[in-house]
Amino acid sequence: MGVLDRFETPKPISWLLNWSRRYSLWMFQFGLACCAIEMMAASGPRYDFMRFGIIPLPASPRQSDLMIVAGTVTDKMAPAIRKLYDQMPDPKYVISMGSCANCGGPYWDSCSVTKGVDQLIPVDVYVPGCPPRPEALMDGIVLLQEKIKNENIKESGAGVTVNPSELAERVAGVVGSDRFSSDNGTAKVRVDSDRWLEAHQTLGAEMPYFSWLSAIDWATEVAVGDPPASEDVESRYEILSCLGNVETGESVVLSTDIAKEDPSITSLTGVFGGADWHEREAAEMMGIEFVGHPNLTHLYLPDAFEGHPLRKTFRLLSRDVKPWPGTVDVEPMPDEQGPSTENPEDAG
Ligand code: SF4
Repeated sequence: MGVLDRFETPKPISWLLNWSRRYSLWMFQFGLACCAIEMMAASGPRYDFMRFGIIPLPASPRQSDLMIVAGTVTDKMAPAIRKLYDQMPDPKYVISMGSCANCGGPYWDSCSVTKGVDQLIPVDVYVPGCPPRPEALMDGIVLLQEKIKNENIKESGAGVTVNPSELAERVAGVVGSDRFSSDNGTAKVRVDSDRWLEAHQTLGAEMPYFSWLSAIDWATEVAVGDPPASEDVESRYEILSCLGNVETGESVVLSTDIAKEDPSITSLTGVFGGADWHEREAAEMMGIEFVGHPNLTHLYLPDAFEGHPLRKTFRLLSRDVKPWPGTVDVEPMPDEQGPSTENPEDAG
């Protein structure tokens, strides 16, 4: 809203602005499951919520000021929701549609479902139901319009900005590190691997939203800052996690290194329950052992699968892993005489 968010707006002008904003909400549709069908029905000719000034056209967050999250939010989808919300201009609003988006719904005890989209982004209106009918969504829209009607633009969240370099320096002080950066607008702080858990415990008090965790097999680069001269980047994996605070809009990436010859680190599941799934993925794909994780089993691949596909040393040939049931012939390598794998049934 430009200068308007910095000064008190005279009442007639703020009334006019709020009136025009409430009846021209550009909706960014985030349909994730069955509730999305009801959301689509609300925009169809029978219900036609364009009558209320809802414009369901933009497929981009950059022109939208209303996000409607309709359906089941999973931990895997969570970072995308947060990123697209961040790309919407202020002032912006969120309607959470249906039990799944409100609290996890019928999947509240699933290991992969986020227990409410309000763990990721601030929600203005919750529409209950499984699924809510289009009338319920329209009721939620009218409630939101009532809220906008009485809004003070200066206090509506517009103009909230985060300075990544200041944030990185502050967080480095909180976790006791002197290595931090803010490349590409992301605050990053590096901590020693033996202080990984402690850093998350300390920072979790002010950044309680756990966004993601991942591991990288860097060949010659590091994600955060310069490696010490004595550190061989070929001999280590990098672990990264992202914590945030949905109220302040701040988020920071923590990173650490572990040696390839002993790829283990303390699990964060005792601090952030959401780390469970992310650590399982890193364990499966990169062969990282998360000490203290309650159930470090495969997520994607069969239990009998050998190797870790995201390691740079992993050879993408079926001959290098345990033969799949039914594997018959594999193209011979130039230095081989013939098929290297036989059909187990023929052999038997
Ligand atoms: S709330 Fe019910 S209808 Fe909506 S996405 Fe969840 S299971 Fe489907």
